[in-house]
Amino acid sequence: MLKKKSFIEQARYTRPLYLMSNSGGCENIVASAGGQGREKLSKEQLAAQHQARIDAMRPRKKKHIQDSWFPLAGEGGYTITHSEDGEAVHTTVVMPQSHKNTVKVHMAKPEPIKLIYCNKFTESKPAPYSVELHIEPLLVMDVHAHSSHSEVIGLLGGNYDPRRLVLQILRAVACRSSSSGIHCDMCPVSQTEASERLHDEGLEVVGWYHSHPTFFPNPSLQDLDTQSHMQEWFAKTASAPLVGFILSPYCPTSRTSASDYRCLIVESNNERTNIPYRLTVDVISNEFDPSTLLRRMDAIFLLHEESSEAMVDFNTEFRSEPPLTYLEKCVESARQHLKSSLPPLAEEAEECILRSVLQACNTLIVLKQTKSELVAEKHG
Ligand SMILES: [Zn+2]
Repeated sequence: MLKKKSFIEQARYTRPLYLMSNSGGCENIVASAGGQGREKLSKEQLAAQHQARIDAMRPRKKKHIQDSWFPLAGEGGYTITHSEDGEAVHTTVVMPQSHKNTVKVHMAKPEPIKLIYCNKFTESKPAPYSVELHIEPLLVMDVHAHSSHSEVIGLLGGNYDPRRLVLQILRAVACRSSSSGIHCDMCPVSQTEASERLHDEGLEVVGWYHSHPTFFPNPSLQDLDTQSHMQEWFAKTASAPLVGFILSPYCPTSRTSASDYRCLIVESNNERTNIPYRLTVDVISNEFDPSTLLRRMDAIFLLHEESSEAMVDFNTEFRSEPPLTYLEKCVESARQHLKSSLPPLAEEAEECILRSVLQACNTLIVLKQTKSELVAEKHG
């Protein structure tokens, strides 16, 4: 039987200097706020509108007591406003300007983006349903998020039981993202293919996921708009509700190696402002066949084969003190998610699952190396 330590032993590789990339998805939203679709409003009007929406969402009961600045590698960083009980209430992200954006005209400097606090359901306002997230889609999302310095995106499949009021998430399918230069969206062709794949398995589309590589898993205003539109669309056409899922694999303020995540829905208030609500998630480990896990990650490998630009080199150092490679970080995140699942897994089952995660990371290491060699050959 494989001892736990052996995963770390297997996971040790050479450690070149750690270099955090700051490109991608929601970061792109930051740099391009005020772009397409917003032309009719002046910058001042936009700022006022955003502020009004943010003010409307701000919880009134808690006093915000502390703003902390967290620099990221490069020039960006973010401020986090904490409540009295230490919970992060708002995050303002300022990313460095990428070369892509400097070429693109009017953006003199990057604008900050607000990540919006997710309200909790309460006894007086209970959640409309509960969410059971099976461990397999959680691990697929987790490896997908860990594998890229940019935002990744995908669809969630499952089913909804209206009698028990339970939404089960049983599959995650990685999708291609299409960047308009304004923000990242799911590529429509990839989305259709993923939907068909889920329907072929007798599942419904019950959600979408994306990552915030280096900052909190709270939604941006753009995420709320997307979630709102998707919820409306699915309410008209599907019998299952639709959730949004955000994972943060490399958030510098995270206290553990496990990626932090949010499962959310939005509600509109009287001013038609989207208010995000956080759903509690139960991670379920029963009825899971670990031997299928690697196959479920096929879509991730294919996407990186198409484009490996933002791909994480799992072989490199994520953190120097205490030392941790990206590979170790990913496997450790999976281990902690497994520990949070119910019913508790037998040690052998856990090791079997972690071996599959490690194998997935190794597949990505080989893919990255092959791609790098091809580029080197081309230029040399
Ligand atoms: Zn986002």
